[in-house]
Amino acid sequence: MIKNGLVLSMVSDSPDILKADIYIEGDKISKIGPNIPLEGVEKVIEAAGKVVMPGLVNCHNHAAMALLRGYSDDLRLMDWLSQKIWPAEDKMNGQDIYCGTMLAAAEMIKSGTTTFADMYAFMNRVAEAVQDSGMRASLCQGLTFLDERGQKRIEYTYRLFENWHGRAGGRITAMIGPHAPYTVPPDKMKLVVDLAIELNAAVHIHLAETSEEVDQIFKKYGKSPTKYLADLGLFDSCRVLLAHAVHLTGDDISIIKNIQGGVSHNPVSNMKLGCGVAPVVELRKAGITVGLGTDGAGSASTLDMFQEIKTAAWMQKNRFFDPTALTAYDVLRMATAEGAKVLGLDSEIGTLEAGKKADIIIIDIQKPHLYPHNDLCSLLAYSASGSDVETAIINGKIVMENRVLLSINEKEVLKKSGECARKMIEAYRDYH
Ligand SMILES: [Zn+2]
Repeated sequence: MIKNGLVLSMVSDSPDILKADIYIEGDKISKIGPNIPLEGVEKVIEAAGKVVMPGLVNCHNHAAMALLRGYSDDLRLMDWLSQKIWPAEDKMNGQDIYCGTMLAAAEMIKSGTTTFADMYAFMNRVAEAVQDSGMRASLCQGLTFLDERGQKRIEYTYRLFENWHGRAGGRITAMIGPHAPYTVPPDKMKLVVDLAIELNAAVHIHLAETSEEVDQIFKKYGKSPTKYLADLGLFDSCRVLLAHAVHLTGDDISIIKNIQGGVSHNPVSNMKLGCGVAPVVELRKAGITVGLGTDGAGSASTLDMFQEIKTAAWMQKNRFFDPTALTAYDVLRMATAEGAKVLGLDSEIGTLEAGKKADIIIIDIQKPHLYPHNDLCSLLAYSASGSDVETAIINGKIVMENRVLLSINEKEVLKKSGECARKMIEAYRDYH
């Protein structure tokens, strides 16, 4: 039982804050309301003067990339990937991926994220880390076809579905992860579409992240990356998670306006890599669901969704010279209910309602930077940071209480991830 919290349920289109208790039974919320009797309750978390809200949903991540945090910054995306990131990732083994994902999970839980969508290599090891850390995740093996190992990656996708889809108490969902239009040629993209139909699975793909990608696809195929994917049947038959969607024309937006799924907007990564500003306002106006993501810590530097929340709002305000472009509540919805919808998990998570899974965070607002309490949504969107999250619950289990991780041995994860990174990267500067 969470007692006396200021409950921000994120259910309606405008802020709804209620002083209430939340009763959790098993993995679900069974009751929300004032003065629920304590009879038979095993554990009480006192939340008076604290905000209780849905756990945040990070719609686009490469979690194990946490090992590459700070390894290579200040380069253009294509140079960064081909000269620095892909060669380093090539040296990663399954153990590195497990360590990196545990490091990311520790950081995500400590900053209020309870669900993430991931695309990377060695997904079985990512799934193990998800199982062990207690997080909820939608996982896909990244599929690129620039070398001869493409077929192997597809076989890996089959194994991911067999071994992990619906596992870890229902916390893991498998997806299919063609990396991007520029790494997946047309015949392979058709294979992906067939595979998605066969497995009845969603497809997670990077789309139009840079203007270079748009130029490259135009030169090769005479059309935009969005039209390229549309012509290969991706949007007709599959639920999709489109990461970035920065460089879209009005026509591109019309093409994707009826998609099942949605877009992950990753403003910090886009800004840091100098990629541009995604047309979030236009996408939302067209009825497309937009969630928020961090992208990997290699590009975003942190996995703190509160940073994405405020940046998303500020980018659109600044872009239109209009502070009403995206409001505090809009971006909080994008980080919770709408993110859940993008992942197809909105019947289970994203809001606090009886019957939904108990994925809940409690935020301590008794701090100077969160005072006075004039408007809680403004405080959460613009003033709070991940370190204000005090307690996190996923699938009814407390995974962090009073800033102490219960599902992860934080000290050991830091030590091991330092060792993995040192092994992996020559001349890695040793901070540990
Ligand atoms: Zn990405």
